Amino acid sequence: MTPKKFEYIEANTVEDAVSLLVKYKDEAKLLAGGQSLLSLMKLRLAAPQYLIDLNKIDGLSGIKEHPDGGLSIGAMTRHYMIENSDLIQSRYPILCESTSKIGDPHIRNRGTIGGALCHADPSADSPPVVKALEAEFKLQGPNGTRIVKAQDFFEDMFTTTMSSDEIMIEIIIPKLAPRTGQSYIKFSRREGDFAIVAVAIVITLDEQRICTKARIDLSGVDSKPITATKTEEFLIGKELSDAVIDEAASTVPGQVKPGGDVHGSAEYRSAMSEVFTKKALIQAIANVGSLN
Ligand SMILES: Cc1cc2nc3c(=O)[nH]c(=O)nc-3n(C[C@H](O)[C@H](O)[C@H](O)COP(=O)(O)OP(=O)(O)OC[C@H]3O[C@@H](n4cnc5c(N)ncnc54)[C@H](O)[C@@H]3O)c2cc1C
Repeated sequence: MTPKKFEYIEANTVEDAVSLLVKYKDEAKLLAGGQSLLSLMKLRLAAPQYLIDLNKIDGLSGIKEHPDGGLSIGAMTRHYMIENSDLIQSRYPILCESTSKIGDPHIRNRGTIGGALCHADPSADSPPVVKALEAEFKLQGPNGTRIVKAQDFFEDMFTTTMSSDEIMIEIIIPKLAPRTGQSYIKFSRREGDFAIVAVAIVITLDEQRICTKARIDLSGVDSKPITATKTEEFLIGKELSDAVIDEAASTVPGQVKPGGDVHGSAEYRSAMSEVFTKKALIQAIANVGSLN
């Protein structure tokens, strides 16, 4: 299929793009890497009258180090730049790992982190990782900028808290505490498919190896990326023995509401959420201290 006829407009600045969104409202769509949007347009599941291209705007792409040890990633930063960034690998290896699992090299060469987050596919790789890393998003709209926590951003399938006249401009990732371990495991039928289940874990242990903080976020098992809050709470204050890990993972299926499809039934996804949380926990614990 070919898309419905539309008018293509190149924005030169974020302010330009915002005023076009204000002017054309629901008739406009932003174009980043086009890897999700153009497929939807070809299938005529999206038919914007105006396509506002963000690709010519300076300063929306790139990875910046903060003096306090955190990082900012421009919303138009392509997946391949994140996947291959030594800086990100040295601080947030789960972001490189999860990005390397997105589609194929062609998709990663064009697709952007901002596009992936704003698209809010419930089986996508980036959302659970930015949630587990407690990232924040800088959005720009007609009244200036605002910051939204990743935790509060994803509302439902393909739905976020962003309003239709806002643009995501930056992803801000805070510095992690010492003795923190990270892991990302994606389970899909074939390499490059969307996740049947994916688990992102960021866990901090004290010097006695007692868990002081745990972030566990999953993709593919609900209408949005979800946080296994009960599992996180269960782990705090405990020494992470095999028995504790088993019990923690067993609490996950009760917190997810997967739908079934050709890739896996709801029951299968639910069962796999326990299996892969256990694997990811073991991996994250093994990684504690590997970066600090
Ligand atoms: C065959 C195929 C396989 C894929 N496999 C995977 C996979 O395994 N895992 C995975 O996670 N993803 C996968 N993807 C999706 C891929 O990650 C896309 O790159 C991503 O979802 C969208 O990024 P984009 O930059 O191409 O955004 P676009 O397609 O340009 O835009 C997507 C949506 O976000 C909006 N948008 C874009 N940028 C902004 C912004 N800065 N501010 C506000 N709104 C914005 C657009 O208006 C649009 O509604 C796959 C895609 C394809 C086609």
